[in-house]
Amino acid sequence: VHCLSIDSLSDGHLAELLANAQEYALDRRAGSGHLAGRTVFNCFYENSTRTAMSFALAAARLGAQAITLSVEHSSVKKGETLADTARTLGAMAPDALVLRHRQNGAAEEVAALAGCPVVNAGDGTNEHPTQALLDALTLLQRFGSLQGRTVAILGDVRHSRVARSNAKLLPRLGAEVRLAGPPALMPDGAGPSDVDSAIAGADAVMMLRVQRERLDQELDDAPGEYLRRYGLTRERLALAKEDAVVLHPGPMNRGVEIADEVADLPGRSLILRQVANGVAMRMAVLEMVVSHHP
Ligand code: ASP
Repeated sequence: VHCLSIDSLSDGHLAELLANAQEYALDRRAGSGHLAGRTVFNCFYENSTRTAMSFALAAARLGAQAITLSVEHSSVKKGETLADTARTLGAMAPDALVLRHRQNGAAEEVAALAGCPVVNAGDGTNEHPTQALLDALTLLQRFGSLQGRTVAILGDVRHSRVARSNAKLLPRLGAEVRLAGPPALMPDGAGPSDVDSAIAGADAVMMLRVQRERLDQELDDAPGEYLRRYGLTRERLALAKEDAVVLHPGPMNRGVEIADEVADLPGRSLILRQVANGVAMRMAVLEMVVSHHP
């Protein structure tokens, strides 16, 4: 079993992951020893704080050893292809390989060649399944069930693998997902979308970072303009349900897509809860892929 995309996970996998992650979220010692003696390769070809550290910590809490590929010093710099890298790392027979890469489909390509379980930690603008899983866990802890709940996912939808994975996962759990953002940051053919109407009456609002590193054209927004027109301010949050919760996958551009006072709103901002749940969910994911591998 790999964890490459939301669609690659069966309903049975989803149930197993959410149940195990909840157990690990309640008790961080609960999984200790489950992967004793196992090894996990962490290969991050794009920057990461939360995802990289939480996979390393998740491995440690399960008793596995995480080994980090130092991409800056790796042979990609000598021109080695992703396919040869996959065969090379796979030949060492790690128990799992975690990959983040700027190319869409990179995790799938590596999974086909490496001969070990692969976890997609973000491939280009395609998917980030473990993020969506930890988001789902965070929402489930709050609401009990997602049946009939509405989640507005707002901002740079075009470049967001987080939005793509959540738009697939949350409806499978019964939620309605509304996507909206500035016209230039919506996917081609998405049709008109209005941030205010997407927020109206929502149970949860997930803000997305403006991914300037993936823009081929500058946004040309005046200072403060993005926050005013599309960002999550207190006034805009007031359009949602009275006790609606706020999520953001991080890293945040404070004062751009989200105002400080909303990012830090006690009781309603779940942003650090998402981070904590990230460790628990990645424990569950590593355990699932490793234990199903012969
Ligand atoms: N950290 C998330 C990702 O890697 C979201 C972001 O970068 O804005 O996709």
